[in-house]
Amino acid sequence: MKTQKKSSRPSGVRKATDRAKRHPDSRATLTEKRASATPAYAAQAPDTRLAPFQIRRREVRPQDVQLEILYCGVCHSDIHMARNEWKQTIYPVVPGHEIVGRVTAVGNKVTKFRSGDLAGVGVMVDSCRECVNCRKGLEQYCTVGMVLTYSARDRRTGEITQGGYSKRIVVHEDFVFRLSDALPLAGVAPLLCAGITTYSPLRHWKVGKGHKLGVVGLGGLGHMAVKFGASFGAEVTMLSTSPDKERDARRLGAHKFALTSDSAQLEKLAGYFDFIIDTVSAKHDYNAYLKLLATDGAMICVGIPPTSAEVEVFTLMGGRRSLAASGIGGIPETQEMLDYCAEHGITSDIELIDIASINDAYARMLKSDVRYRFVIDMASLT
Ligand code: NAP
Ligand code: ZN
Ligand code: ZN
Repeated sequence: MKTQKKSSRPSGVRKATDRAKRHPDSRATLTEKRASATPAYAAQAPDTRLAPFQIRRREVRPQDVQLEILYCGVCHSDIHMARNEWKQTIYPVVPGHEIVGRVTAVGNKVTKFRSGDLAGVGVMVDSCRECVNCRKGLEQYCTVGMVLTYSARDRRTGEITQGGYSKRIVVHEDFVFRLSDALPLAGVAPLLCAGITTYSPLRHWKVGKGHKLGVVGLGGLGHMAVKFGASFGAEVTMLSTSPDKERDARRLGAHKFALTSDSAQLEKLAGYFDFIIDTVSAKHDYNAYLKLLATDGAMICVGIPPTSAEVEVFTLMGGRRSLAASGIGGIPETQEMLDYCAEHGITSDIELIDIASINDAYARMLKSDVRYRFVIDMASLT
């Protein structure tokens, strides 16, 4: 893509001429270009359960990649969006932005993929590509606005985008990621959102050896933050409301565990952390965690509760503490994260479900009963 320097182009990326020579069946690619009816699961309104629904995917444009979706992770953002908790949902909505699958067709100008490749799609499928942030590979902060994988408008046609709880998807190759075939594919899917959303701030704030990192909330994002934090060399403490998750937290890489409902345990950690990553999806008291930061410490919010929160300036001031937030990660950094995971054998701990169980999975996530990401086996959608 425009903003990527040649040197940062990942190895294994094929050039167009190469691909044209080697493409196994270019005729089949052409016949698959027509828009196709695609089975999916959708919410029709904030208070309806997700149910079978038919969508149409666009024709493959010259730089498009069509994927047969094999697995799709279930992010808490899917719940916020299906229920219009952020007041931006366009119905009917097919959620899902942790998408992995196999390439089944490519446009004639595609250079990165060919049919048969494994590939992934995350939270966004387009951006303006020209603004100051897009040029830096920070497409998630596109000043015009990134195009979300679902419940957004296609920049060219105005059609509503639909997500990964479906059989296939068509996306511009610049927003499609290469995947390693060495990792279990279902466990790779959550890296496309939970993975990059925690990897990106840890890298931006250079969290590593010698740092004390607190992770609030052990769900999809939280368990990836623990894995990356430990992998980068930080001392990781899990801050959880669920006492029965302690053993798992330690297995995932946490060195310490504190039960946040026990004020005595929190008091002992006052002024302790250099960084805190807050992944909590529901309303909670930020001040209780800000107090746990050391002088010059930073708390980075990645969880997005639907309601705004009060922050005590005195708590920030008494230690020059920072409160920040971070959104997913850009395209180059997401590929970097996927390559890092392939190199270090990092995947998400998942519970594989059939699509028919999606409403039950949502109910369990709302009770913090997730270990630690539900992933839909798309073979169950017929
Ligand atoms: P999740 O799997 O449901 O995990 C959330 C965890 O937060 C729960 O397992 C629970 O962990 C804890 N929690 C829940 N309610 C709580 C409460 N009232 N007080 C304290 N802790 C509570 O959710 P997720 O998929 O990781 O997503 C988390 C949040 O991140 C969501 O708001 C989502 O929309 C957002 N998100 C943001 C971005 C971004 O770009 N910034 C990207 C993806 C997702 P314990 O049992 O350990 O307490
Ligand atoms: Zn997500
Ligand atoms: Zn832009």
